[in-house]
Amino acid sequence: MSQDIEHVKCLIIGSGPAGYTAAIYASRADLKPVMYTGMLAGGQLTQTTDVENFPGYPDGIMGPEMMEDFRKQAERLGTDIRFGYVSSVDFSSLPHKVVVDESKTILADTVIISTGASAKWLGLESEQKYSGFGVSACAVCDGFFFKGQDVAIVGAGDTAAEEATYLAKLARKVYMIVRRDEFRASKAMVHRVLNTPNIEILYNTDTIEILGDGQSVNAVKVCNNVTNETSVLDVTGFFVAIGHKPNTDIFRGVIHMDETGYIITRPGSTETNIEGVFCCGDAQDHIYRQAVTAAGTGCMAAIDAERYLAAKEHVVTA
Ligand code: NDP
Repeated sequence: MSQDIEHVKCLIIGSGPAGYTAAIYASRADLKPVMYTGMLAGGQLTQTTDVENFPGYPDGIMGPEMMEDFRKQAERLGTDIRFGYVSSVDFSSLPHKVVVDESKTILADTVIISTGASAKWLGLESEQKYSGFGVSACAVCDGFFFKGQDVAIVGAGDTAAEEATYLAKLARKVYMIVRRDEFRASKAMVHRVLNTPNIEILYNTDTIEILGDGQSVNAVKVCNNVTNETSVLDVTGFFVAIGHKPNTDIFRGVIHMDETGYIITRPGSTETNIEGVFCCGDAQDHIYRQAVTAAGTGCMAAIDAERYLAAKEHVVTA
């Protein structure tokens, strides 16, 4: 058994905009936060290129650079940022027990979960090759770069429907690639898609390959899975909207989550069902999923943690 045990007031798990913002607020509240970054320090934004919708960057900024700014700010204010992966948690008693890299045990008075989510990808090699260079998993983030151009989007759920109509306002034409002969999205969303004249729906269609010149996307090869006919769509943007997976596997069975793994927080708060455990960012949000909303809930989580500790101290000293 490892004897490497440390007691902290506030432990932050995950390092995207939510985690770093929680760290900034928790540091300034003198909670002396310790953050474990996870394997992808900086989170999903480190896998994007230009970010133009985060307030405060009038000329836009590259995603990785923005996360570096967040990190520096959290560190300057006193957050102890460590590279490491939380391998298991035990929230059955106070202080909470968190094991990092299967070796170090942290005892934490408060835990802020900001482990984010990961976009699901088709798994094509060409998709990876052009990720950030024409391939994107976020229309709201990247649609703007395809103004007046032709794009394709794959998926048939509410996200795909919503993003297709969003893209249709910017792009000249949107091809919507649907693998079955029907949508999964709600009737209202489907109605909106069907009534958008510049969206063309390709039912029973699979994506075979994303084509490009080595620098950026210029087409996508698709195949009708009923007729086996292949065709090439001339597009400069390819959007993947086949769902997200919250990075919450280590909390399964420990904390309340919905059937898809999003952690449930009390409305208007970041409180979970476990005393002293708060959750922010995409790990609890399947609707907005924006850097700025993640940052907002990160701020809330630190304030909730600070108030929780203050209330406890008050009870102890009263
Ligand atoms: P969903 O899981 O609902 O839908 C995923 C879609 O992607 C399905 O149509 C699925 O096809 C398709 N898909 C999955 N894998 C592949 C693949 N390999 N190739 C091609 N297509 C694939 O995810 P969403 O992100 O759309 O929605 C998640 C949740 O969030 C839902 O509960 C949704 O209602 C909710 N949401 C609500 C919104 C709102 O209320 N405004 C907005 C956005 C999301 P198939 O149908 O064949 O399985």
